[in-house]
Amino acid sequence: MTLEKEVMKTKVIAAIDENKDLIFNIGRKIYKNPELGYKEFETTKLVKEFFEEELGLKVVDNIAYTGCKAQINEEKSGPKIAVLGELDGIVCNDHKDSLDSGASHTCGHNIQIAGMLAVAIGLLKSGVYKELDGKIEFIATPAEEFIDMEYRSKLKEEGYIQYFGGKQELIRNGTFDDIDMAVMFHVLDTDDKKVLVGPVSNGFIGKSIRFTGREAHAGSAQHKGVNALNAAMLAINNINAQKETFEDKHKVRIHPIITKGGDIVNVVPADVRMESYTRARTMEALVDANEKVNRSLIAGAMAVGANIEVQELPGYLPILKHEEMEDILLRNLLSRGFTKDDMIEGGDFTGSFDLGDVSHMMPTLHPMFGGIKGELHSMDYEIIDEEYVYLEPAKVLAMTIIDLLFDNAKEAKNILENFTPALTKEEYLSFMDCNDRIIKKEYLVKESDN
Ligand SMILES: [Zn+2]
Repeated sequence: MTLEKEVMKTKVIAAIDENKDLIFNIGRKIYKNPELGYKEFETTKLVKEFFEEELGLKVVDNIAYTGCKAQINEEKSGPKIAVLGELDGIVCNDHKDSLDSGASHTCGHNIQIAGMLAVAIGLLKSGVYKELDGKIEFIATPAEEFIDMEYRSKLKEEGYIQYFGGKQELIRNGTFDDIDMAVMFHVLDTDDKKVLVGPVSNGFIGKSIRFTGREAHAGSAQHKGVNALNAAMLAINNINAQKETFEDKHKVRIHPIITKGGDIVNVVPADVRMESYTRARTMEALVDANEKVNRSLIAGAMAVGANIEVQELPGYLPILKHEEMEDILLRNLLSRGFTKDDMIEGGDFTGSFDLGDVSHMMPTLHPMFGGIKGELHSMDYEIIDEEYVYLEPAKVLAMTIIDLLFDNAKEAKNILENFTPALTKEEYLSFMDCNDRIIKKEYLVKESDN
């Protein structure tokens, strides 16, 4: 006999409540030992042990250098839902709980992991998973924060990874190949609200830039030099001149910095470095803005006769909204006693998340829960309601999974039938490859030709 859907939900909520100390403990433990992306060795181990010892699951680890996953209902034929939790911390030197290295959990990824494990506890310990007509995979994903470039470049050179983002790498290596839909959450200071449903975000392309000019004595022979700093400054002005060509709705953001402006003051700068992101709301707008940035950079080099090398890195894609998934979540929030006044619907982020890449290939769900205070990644970040932030997202996501997979997975199958992915995996990888490139232009003439 199959259980009523509402009975299943009640059982799952009870199982999460009964195991709340276990959930708090793992969340707090991970909080205390933040590890940056692709370095989450201890955190991966903790999650692996939890899967094995608390839940009796078989674990596949090192799924993308770090990270691990475990599955339930392997033998069922219905759709497969992934519950994602991010493992990595972020550098925030000023936070009171950050380590000497600056690593901190001021993006709340420890809460995501605890929440993902709480969903597993709810479905498994209640026995409800047996009644569901689909598979569920819990994936602890590495490296959501796009930082620590030198380390990741080295991993890339050594062949351990291809992409800097964890989900990008998991898409590439086939971890998402047999997954039909994915759910996860972030935390956010929601002020007097409790939850944000349906955020959209920007995509981005990253780049590091090197202008090479020619050194000369800056006082007595400046006419013999080629000033790479002038090339960089022209380039930044060129970029600023592009800004009026962007439509407001595309939310373009470009924010170059000069990371090296010269060597010594009495020598014409010949080695100047910059970094920049180009961000926009759609892939088309992103490609368009990025071309303009590249033209601007090259024009700066051309004007002074310097060489330029632009190393481009494929960043994340914008998050696409999947309203049918959000509708199910909304129903569950209401049944948990949330009112419309507790909710922010449709948040608009000009930052980026690597779930954006996944959202181009399958229906995804990515609500953001309160229970914390202060900006993410900042010294003000603070968990203010453990009970809420560790348990409530897990309850609502588990309820959503029950809705999707109940009754021969009718809801999930419906959503999948009406779903057309924005990109196939092949199209995605070719977009990534197009933006994983080095552009070189040489305008530096030999001294004797001057
Ligand atoms: Zn994050």
